[in-house]
Amino acid sequence: MKSLLDIVAKRPRALTHEELVEVLTWPDADALFSAAYAVKCREIGKLVSFRGLIEFGNICEKDCRYCGIRKSNANVHRYRMDADEIVREAKWAREQGYGSLVLQSGELTGEANVAFVEDVLKRIHAFGGDGFGVTISLGEQSEETYRRWREAGAHRYLLRIETSNPELYAKLHPADHSWERRLECLRSLRRCGYQVGSGVMSGLPGQTMDDLAADIAFFAAEDLDMIGMGPYIPHPDTPLGKDAEWTPEIRKSRLELGLRMIAATRLYLHDVNIAAATALQALDPEGREKGLLAGANVIMPNVTETRYRANYQLYAGKPCLDENSSLCRGCLEKRISAIGETILWNKRGDSPHWGKR
Ligand code: SAH
Repeated sequence: MKSLLDIVAKRPRALTHEELVEVLTWPDADALFSAAYAVKCREIGKLVSFRGLIEFGNICEKDCRYCGIRKSNANVHRYRMDADEIVREAKWAREQGYGSLVLQSGELTGEANVAFVEDVLKRIHAFGGDGFGVTISLGEQSEETYRRWREAGAHRYLLRIETSNPELYAKLHPADHSWERRLECLRSLRRCGYQVGSGVMSGLPGQTMDDLAADIAFFAAEDLDMIGMGPYIPHPDTPLGKDAEWTPEIRKSRLELGLRMIAATRLYLHDVNIAAATALQALDPEGREKGLLAGANVIMPNVTETRYRANYQLYAGKPCLDENSSLCRGCLEKRISAIGETILWNKRGDSPHWGKR
C-alpha cells in the first residue's frame, strides 16, 4: 500500500481535514521531513532565498497578548530608525548580494507613518529598481495605504493571521483586535497586487492539531504565495508568557511542531515560498537549517544594526543579538552549504506559485 506521504507529494491541495491531521502527526517525523524536502527540491531546487531583515522600529499601537513589543510592555526601550539609516542598511544588504529585503516594525497607522514608509520605499526603489525584492511587514493598514506602499515599490507583504481559528484569536488578543479585519487586510493586499504572505504560530496555548490542520487549509483557501510560520515562544513581559511553563522538553517539542508545520504545509501546497523563521533558531542553534530540511526555502538573516536588536524582542531568547550583520551572513552561509543547499544571491526569489498566477 502506498503511504499517504507519497500520495500527497504527488497531488497538491487535495487532502481531507483528517488526512491533513494524519500528515501533521505522522509518527516518523524524519520520514515526514524527508518527504517534504523532496517536494521542495522538486518544486524549487536545492536553492535557498535570502531576505535581509531590517527591524526598523518597535513602537506599536497593538497589544497582542503574546508579543514582547506590545504597547503595554513598559520594559521595552522604544526606537525607530530614521529614513537615512534604513536606506543605508538596505544599500548595504544590496551590496552584500541580498536579492531582497524585509522591512518590519511594530504597527503604526496615521499619515506621518504612512508617508515615512512611502518615502523609504521610494528611496530603496530608486537604487534597487524592480530587480531588488522589497517585502514589508507593517501590520493592518487601510487599502489606500497598502496601495500607496505598493506604488512606492514594495511588492510582497507579510501579515500573519496568527491562527485561522477566530475563537483562539480572540483569546490571544484584546477585544478591540479583530480576526475578521486581519482577514480583510489579506484580501486588500491581494487586490493591491502584492505577493501575499501569511502564517501562524504553532504551539499556542489552547491550540489543537485540528486548528493547525485548519491553518494549512486556510493557506490554500486564501491562495497565499508565501508562508511564514514559527513556534510560539513565551515572552516573560507579556500576559500570555509570564507564567508559561518552559522546560527543555517543551522547547524540544515546540521545535518539532514548528518543523512539522513546515513539512505538512510544503506537502500540501507544493509551490509556495516558505520561510524558516528565526524563532526556530531561538529554540535550536540549527533550527533554521532544520527548517530547510523540512521543506522551507527562505531564510531572513537579520541585517539590522546590532545596537537595535535587543529592543526588537518579540519572544525570549532571540538569537544573533550581539553579532554584526556580516558575521550573521558568514555563519549562515557555511551552515547552508553544509546541508548541500545553494544560496540564490542577487535574486528576488519570487514565489513560484505567484509566477503561475
Ligand atoms: N507588527 C507586524 C510585524 C511584527 S510582529 C505585524 O503584526 O504583522 C511579527 C510576528 O511575530 C507576528 O505576526 C507573530 O506571529 C510573531 N510573534 C510575536 N510574538 C511572538 C512570540 N512570543 N513567539 C513567536 N512569535 C511571535
